[in-house]
Amino acid sequence: MPITDHVKLFIPGPIDVSEKTFRAFTRPMIGHRSGDFKKLYGGIQPRLKTLFGTTQPVFLSTSSAWGVMEGAIRNLVGSGKVLNCMCGAFSDKWFDVSKRCGKEAVALQVEWGQPILPEQVDAALAAGGFDAVTLIHNETSCGVRNPLKEIAAVVKKYPGVLLIVDTVSSFSTEAIPMDELGLDVLLTGSQKALALPPGLALFSASEAAFERAATIKDRGYYFDFIEFKKNQEQDMTPSTPVISHIYALESKLDDIFTEGVEARYARHAKLNGLVHDWVKSRGFEFFAPEGYRSLSLTCGKNNREIDIAEWIKRLREKYHCVIDGGYGKVKGKTFRISNMGDETEETITELLGWLDDTLEA
Ligand SMILES: *Cc1c(COP(=O)(O)O)cnc(C)c1O
Repeated sequence: MPITDHVKLFIPGPIDVSEKTFRAFTRPMIGHRSGDFKKLYGGIQPRLKTLFGTTQPVFLSTSSAWGVMEGAIRNLVGSGKVLNCMCGAFSDKWFDVSKRCGKEAVALQVEWGQPILPEQVDAALAAGGFDAVTLIHNETSCGVRNPLKEIAAVVKKYPGVLLIVDTVSSFSTEAIPMDELGLDVLLTGSQKALALPPGLALFSASEAAFERAATIKDRGYYFDFIEFKKNQEQDMTPSTPVISHIYALESKLDDIFTEGVEARYARHAKLNGLVHDWVKSRGFEFFAPEGYRSLSLTCGKNNREIDIAEWIKRLREKYHCVIDGGYGKVKGKTFRISNMGDETEETITELLGWLDDTLEA
């Protein structure tokens, strides 16, 4: 049955937000230095740490993910270089952001759609003089899933080089154990896999990351990791946080732990498989090579050369939902379908039926 009350988003973020989540936003306001807030913030820590796979505190930043992406550069990169691993729109932009922060940024650029390989990172770091590496685990613009574990192992060979990892579109769809992998910053945003509205970022940092930050003078205030850590010790944030969003996060954690974390991962893998099967059986190819494809979205290649924009228009008009018609320079050449958030076998199967129905004019 087509959705009637809104246009449902199957784009890879922002994604559809549940009624239950929206209701959580309407709880009465509390003071951000009050016992009620400390109870809220402290209360969600254990579950956040489980999802992050860390014993370190998890911080909440009232910003989109880019705030923390820029903040991580400012906190972890001093007079040394930063290696930006680039394979799509978001990771390419991180290079630009590093330069705008006045850092000596080095590009490790591969073609859009291709993964970053551990040996490429190794070769780049061998030049020496690096403070940090930025890596996007799941490059949302191209549907590329980079080999995080292998890259993390390579970075470990270089003492003093810290690894900053963006998991904005993969967090909570699969296990990303920060401590076990030895990541120094793990960050994510609210509007992708967590199915919250945009405006909140979550991150954690290693002891090495705090030690580095302490040596860097011009790291600013709003995203100062040391400020976050000091306030965290009292279950508070440096400045007034987006409290309503934190209520919604708490509600979402209830959902996640009621379903069960492992069951959630399995659900995402299964739904991703359904979309992948559909793409293959309809004669489309994938933008990323096998073994490096995202588990939370599918990026298909428009090898059939259909009019993607018209297809999505028909989908929107008839079924009140949308998929994405390609990001930036691959617009029209690719399409992307999200299987993040609260989707089920039923809703994804229904969507695939609608895609079939609207594929041809
Ligand atoms: C969406 C996205 C971002 C940017 O998030 P903002 O909320 O716009 O700051 C960064 N990285 C990845 C991988 C993303 O998918």
